[in-house]
Amino acid sequence: MPTESTAGRRRPADLLFDPLLGLFFTRGRVEQLEQLTPRVRRIRVTGPAVRGLSWTPGQHVRVHVKDLGAPVWAGMLRDVLRTYSVWAYDGEGLELCPLDHGDGPGARWARSLRVGDEIAFRKPEGRFVVDGSAAYHLFAGEETASVAFGAMLRALPDEARVHGVVEVAGPPDRLPLPRSGQLRWCFRGDAGAAASGSLVAAVRELDLPGEPGIAYLAGEARTCQAVRDHLVRERGWPRRSVLVKPFWTPGRRGLD
Ligand SMILES: Cc1cc2nc3c(=O)[nH]c(=O)nc-3n(C[C@H](O)[C@H](O)[C@H](O)COP(=O)(O)OP(=O)(O)OC[C@H]3O[C@@H](n4cnc5c(N)ncnc54)[C@H](O)[C@@H]3O)c2cc1C
Repeated sequence: MPTESTAGRRRPADLLFDPLLGLFFTRGRVEQLEQLTPRVRRIRVTGPAVRGLSWTPGQHVRVHVKDLGAPVWAGMLRDVLRTYSVWAYDGEGLELCPLDHGDGPGARWARSLRVGDEIAFRKPEGRFVVDGSAAYHLFAGEETASVAFGAMLRALPDEARVHGVVEVAGPPDRLPLPRSGQLRWCFRGDAGAAASGSLVAAVRELDLPGEPGIAYLAGEARTCQAVRDHLVRERGWPRRSVLVKPFWTPGRRGLD
């Protein structure tokens, strides 16, 4: 997939908003853009403020997806921030992988980015992180969930036991996940990812150890709920062993 890495345009930053943004946001510039799959773009952000952030794999950042120079009116506030999992962070550059799902402020922002553009985001946060004490780790979710899963899987020690299902539209939509061979890929074709019966069915078919591990469920909210119900009701897992992080659901904007 092509990588853009030449110097690009700069977005206008209004002087009035500049100091205010600096108080609440970390600012960096797009250093690299890469089309990882037909709908997922990897965005690498670097800059002095991006160095040395505290980040635990699985955590996300809240990104200012409006033009940094444009005034924001009260009614538009819900369209200012969107949440993206951190795909990778090496102490210098932070990488995000927004999925182009169609129409929405986040999707439009990600599509419009060019190398050199300025990005403002809140520091990494969140409790959707790996539990090192678990007997084994179970991952289930769709394309957007697999961004967080990539970081979490990379953080696991070699001896950690991993199971899981990642549902995507088709083979080209698979992100390059570590331990890919230990995960099952499930292809839903033209069906929607919302309330996906095929993901639940694929998790039901997994041959898991007798005792519960820790499950990480992310992506579309109703699908996450259905997988949790399966683990708790059908497999008898304690609720505390199932970490759920809904990322989006039809009809809701900026879920978080
Ligand atoms: C903790 C967390 C981590 C997240 N990490 C990522 C990530 O790494 N990559 C990523 O792409 N998204 C991620 N998301 C989801 C992302 O924040 C939402 O998809 C976001 O709402 C999309 O913003 P938008 O402005 O484009 O659309 P919105 O205006 O927020 O949504 C409009 C409509 O678009 C549809 N929609 C939204 N997202 C999807 C989707 N993924 N697939 C199909 N339809 C959709 C829904 O019908 C929704 O009602 C994460 C969310 C959370 C809470």
